[in-house]
Amino acid sequence: MDSERGRTGQGGGPSHAAVGPSTRCVHAGGLVEAGTGAVAPSICLSTTFERDADGGFSRGYTYARSNNPTRALLERGLCEVEGGAGSRAACAAFGSGLAAAAAVHQALRAGDRVVAPLDGYWGTASQLRAMVSRWGIEVVFVDMTDLDATRAAIGSRASVVWVETPSNPLMAVVDVAAVAAMAHAAGAVLVVDNTAFPLIQKPFELGADLVMYSTTKYFGGHSDVLGGAVIAKEAEGFFARVREAQNLGGGVPSPFDCWLTLRGMRTLALRMRAHGEGALALAEALQRHARVERVNYAWLPGHPGHAVARRQMSGGGGLLSFCVRGGRAEAMAVAARLRVATRATSLGGVETLVEHRASIEGAATRCPENLLRVSVGIEDAADVVADFLSALDG
Ligand SMILES: *Cc1c(COP(=O)(O)O)cnc(C)c1O
Repeated sequence: MDSERGRTGQGGGPSHAAVGPSTRCVHAGGLVEAGTGAVAPSICLSTTFERDADGGFSRGYTYARSNNPTRALLERGLCEVEGGAGSRAACAAFGSGLAAAAAVHQALRAGDRVVAPLDGYWGTASQLRAMVSRWGIEVVFVDMTDLDATRAAIGSRASVVWVETPSNPLMAVVDVAAVAAMAHAAGAVLVVDNTAFPLIQKPFELGADLVMYSTTKYFGGHSDVLGGAVIAKEAEGFFARVREAQNLGGGVPSPFDCWLTLRGMRTLALRMRAHGEGALALAEALQRHARVERVNYAWLPGHPGHAVARRQMSGGGGLLSFCVRGGRAEAMAVAARLRVATRATSLGGVETLVEHRASIEGAATRCPENLLRVSVGIEDAADVVADFLSALDG
């Protein structure tokens, strides 16, 4: 490694082509700070930056909403982790995942069409229904496991197509490359909400133009910081308007939020392996239990999207859902008996969380009343499995 490399300079991390995902996460953004030699990053709280004597900004920073050193470090790190070899990626970080999604929508014009999955994340769907449709933007929801219906929904005039796979919480698998080809044939931008599958699924390699994350989940990883990001394969084109929405919309993360997210990112690869091992063990154990009606986890060979998942993912990830025999009351009773898992919304933290999605999504939910979603943490898998089996046994 180059000892002269400073994280305040151009590019920081090790050469992408040479290193694996764990190394990339540990070194993302560049490790050693120029000037001080600090190995852990500083948090720069300044909202404003000195101009040169001639009025210029040769040091690259003007005002913290537009850019600041701690956010720049996070954005560069996210590009390095997502971009891969020879990347020309660009990233805009936001104060939450929904602020990142909103910036994509703020990049549109009245009359544009957005196509989104019928069983995508509830918050994004609500943003499209409640806000984006008010702007004269046409919003079309479609079951993206049905490729003919998806082609018809995109038509010849979609501007943005969202993909979320496996979907949350039903874990339906969408063929990203197939939908990307349809989106590009219509001249649309393909955005993958990859929140639940960082490192496991590489949307740029499957044809995505933008990758969106709620970094609140696995990147932060400890249930203590909200954040979001839009990463573009290339800085030019549509992404320029996302960057504009970041600056003029102003939904930016604080320097401390950026620092926490970067701190979480250092262990992302390690955690994703543990989440995946725990979730697979739990999915297999649940599948054998008489009181479980079905398990939704794409890495199980019986899952309807398993073959596509094998092609476009390197593991099943940490999220699964299952249906308890009976109805809402039976599912709630199982959740109430858990001792290792905590009943709470969200996902991607080190702790196992379980949630009855139908009751948080309300009357319009597509989620079965007997379904529990589990974000499997990094506790010992045997403890998590034993917790669920004893809760099911009553
Ligand atoms: C949580 C989540 C979001 C929204 O992110 P926030 O950080 O909560 O605003 C978007 N998409 C998916 C898949 C999520 O899980």
